[in-house]
Amino acid sequence: MDSQNFFLDSQKQLKEIANILKIKPEILRELEEPHRLIKFQIPVQMDNGKVKIFFGFRSQHNNTLGPYKGGIRFHPEVSEDEIKALSMLMTWKCALVDLPFGGGKGGVIVDPRKLSKGELERLSRGYVKGIFPYIGPDIDVPAPDVNTNAQIMAWMVNEYSKLKGKDTPAAFTGKPPELWGLKGREEATGYGGVVILKKLQKVFGFKPRETTLAVQGFGNVGYNFANFAFREGYKIIATSECEGGIYVKKGLNPEETLRCREEKGKIAECYCVGSVCDLNYGKQITNDELLEMEVDILVPAAVENVITKENASKIRAKYIIEMANGPVTPEAEIILEEKCVVSIPDILANSGGVTASYFEWLQSKEKKKWEREKSLHELSVVLEKAFEEVWNLAKKEKVNLKKAAYLLAVDRVAKAMKK
Ligand code: GLU
Repeated sequence: MDSQNFFLDSQKQLKEIANILKIKPEILRELEEPHRLIKFQIPVQMDNGKVKIFFGFRSQHNNTLGPYKGGIRFHPEVSEDEIKALSMLMTWKCALVDLPFGGGKGGVIVDPRKLSKGELERLSRGYVKGIFPYIGPDIDVPAPDVNTNAQIMAWMVNEYSKLKGKDTPAAFTGKPPELWGLKGREEATGYGGVVILKKLQKVFGFKPRETTLAVQGFGNVGYNFANFAFREGYKIIATSECEGGIYVKKGLNPEETLRCREEKGKIAECYCVGSVCDLNYGKQITNDELLEMEVDILVPAAVENVITKENASKIRAKYIIEMANGPVTPEAEIILEEKCVVSIPDILANSGGVTASYFEWLQSKEKKKWEREKSLHELSVVLEKAFEEVWNLAKKEKVNLKKAAYLLAVDRVAKAMKK
């Protein structure tokens, strides 16, 4: 992951859009960098009694449309530039789906798989102690991201409420439903991606049973996307995790695969015994092989910068749905466009998560509870509207969907800043 380029690329992208929209230099200057970047140490008492220092970040990009909003990721490759780039993406994402939020992002440099449950809890609480003065329900509202989940949000909101001296459920979203979390929030990002897939189905005339999908990543986003797509009848022929993945010619059932992985530890083990796989059934593949597979729709749902100028010309999919944040570099995008690949930008495709977070934030403030069906229905209304706006602008301006999405989002933020 080249995170410096990731941030520089996001600035470059903004400048191009600002140019088209004729945004004033002082507004562009403000948008090019986050309002505030917090870097802090998190001392954690490890199980062996020793104290280990971790490094945490929170980037608050822009709050013109509402409180800064965005997840916190736990990953060994987290860096300042990565978090800055991702916080800018959140500003565009929230603006695109018209939420009353700005953009933020946080992270800790850590491999959470190497921590015990107790260490993970102390790290999560330590993160909140480090940023407590800078966050809150109307200031900056964090949520889950890569390798963080509802349990981590529960520890974080509990720590926040303790420091604040009062129960403050709206300070975080993505909490467990028992603690003012939204029913449906966990699967919302994947569900939202499939709402967009169904819109594509209508305009491009996909026949689900004849349409193959390869999903990179089997975490919360990848798994739920695959599962909802499977239920719509789509054929999931490949999926992967960090260590690699599996190609299943006749298509795999995500729910069964998840159950099996929980038992055996690895996806590949579910379709292969050791290194021996039944070729008619399963074949082990690397993450690179998954991306370059002959498939109708490719769904990168793991981390950023996986499709680059090095592998873009080898992509054989006709459509890409960006469920990860920033999976395609701008150089790769140009190559893909020349190959006539249709890409659905991340700020549209994966916006179901933050949209559900908005519902959760409202509920936590109002102390109301929604049923899962209502959450998912409301979410599809928001995403379908955003899809139509992006689609219509792309047709009108004769630009690709990414450019149309950015034009809409940046314009909304810049106009509000001007006012
Ligand atoms: N981490 C998710 C994202 O990248 C969700 C953010 C949120 O719910 O605030 O969109």
